[in-house]
Amino acid sequence: MTHLHEVDLAPLAPERFEGVLGPDWEEFKAAIASGRQLFRGRTIWNVNSTAKGGGVAEMLRSLLAYAEGGGVDTRWVVISGNPEFFRVTKRIHNNLHGAEGDGGDLGAAERAVYEQALEPNATEMVELVEEGDVVLLHDPQTAGLSTPLKEAGAVVLWRCHVGLDTPNDKARAAWSFLKPFLETSDSFIFSREAFVWDDLPDEKIQIVPPSIDAFSPKNQDMAPAQVTAILAAAGVVRDGVGGEAPTFVRVDGSEDRVDTPADVVGGPVPADARLVVQVSRWDRLKDPLGVMAGFVEHVAPASDARLVLAGPAVEEVADDPEGAEVLQEVIDARERVSEEVRERVHLACLPMEDGEENAALVNALQRRADVIVQKSLAEGFGLTVAEGMWKARPVVASRIGGIQDQIEDGKSGLLLDDARDLKAYGAAVLRLLEDPETAESMGRAARERVRTDFLGARHLMQYLDIIEKLLR
Ligand code: UDP
Repeated sequence: MTHLHEVDLAPLAPERFEGVLGPDWEEFKAAIASGRQLFRGRTIWNVNSTAKGGGVAEMLRSLLAYAEGGGVDTRWVVISGNPEFFRVTKRIHNNLHGAEGDGGDLGAAERAVYEQALEPNATEMVELVEEGDVVLLHDPQTAGLSTPLKEAGAVVLWRCHVGLDTPNDKARAAWSFLKPFLETSDSFIFSREAFVWDDLPDEKIQIVPPSIDAFSPKNQDMAPAQVTAILAAAGVVRDGVGGEAPTFVRVDGSEDRVDTPADVVGGPVPADARLVVQVSRWDRLKDPLGVMAGFVEHVAPASDARLVLAGPAVEEVADDPEGAEVLQEVIDARERVSEEVRERVHLACLPMEDGEENAALVNALQRRADVIVQKSLAEGFGLTVAEGMWKARPVVASRIGGIQDQIEDGKSGLLLDDARDLKAYGAAVLRLLEDPETAESMGRAARERVRTDFLGARHLMQYLDIIEKLLR
């Protein structure tokens, strides 16, 4: 193979879920057994355009490892393309989000670029796939493989991980570009109802929300002393009790330590401080300036809490040129805050050299938070919300995108009707800070919500159900 690249999957035992699924474990166990039976003699292929970087690759790595570990022949293949192809597919991606992207067209010339780049990938893929195999194509980059794979006798599902609440002309233009390539697909899978395109056959549409991996360094259990040790080792929180080692468990099962310092504007947080935390890329759509202004104006005067805005060390994220600019805006805005409140606002840039170490640090920070905030102005799903909820934290977040599917307002967190209403945001945060009982019960409900709806087990069972119906 010269165009396709196969990603090695290290199988993981689905039995791992037994501890977290509780009563639902039996259902998952039965589903795995039925999947093994159903897929005997068939291979389940997943095709996307990158093996690392981004939520889709992270999710595939974990889900496919459990499928493989459950005895289903699962394979993951990554396509390749030339720079023009990726320029076109990035444009499609941006347009699907309703954004201009580079402002270019999606016309006949772009269609030719797209088709030509996919052709050799399709030829190789058709060689690999046997009649009766199942192929899950992920995102716009792979849509053009649907017809050749159908002709080769495969069952083809197309999974779209992008979408927006209210589609605009840009999004519709991207749909029109992709639709002809997908006419042959057996199924279209979207993350939420609102993301479904117009004019697709109803009977082929499926809704499957994303999921998080409960056992990854980002979400694995951590004892409070371990949380303290990790945050102290990275210099995010001043050393408190001490003693515990700042350890976490890597994906491969080995143990390692957090030892790379974060860069914290405002210095480390005092060991006993109460914290309001938002973890996000430095992106205007995550509204870091609003999170800070709302805290300064409406939370700080009425409480002793501190704010931590955490994001990646910007020089490390090469594909996010705006990150450094946005971080600078936040630093400048912090400088304008009165001195006594300013010292209660901390900007933590988390080291990115080692993705798993970064994840362990995010994990510890989310666990240390008294209130987690996700005051985004736009959001597809909002993984940070599910991550915070899984840690039984009370989350205050905007009522947009997939966040609305995660938080049941007033039960498993608090939703903000208007993400720009700083007073309402401040009041919601204060309410949770002042009422630990409510905060705790919301956190408990939040964890339960993620346990039943947003873990990999649910995700795998939904895929199984959809494929089973197609094969019948
Ligand atoms: N994230 C991280 N380190 C950081 C900032 C963010 O690992 O310094 C992670 C965060 O934990 C989440 C993901 O990046 O898993 C962001 O996904 P989300 O859906 O919240 O937003 P997106 O960045 O995709 O818009």
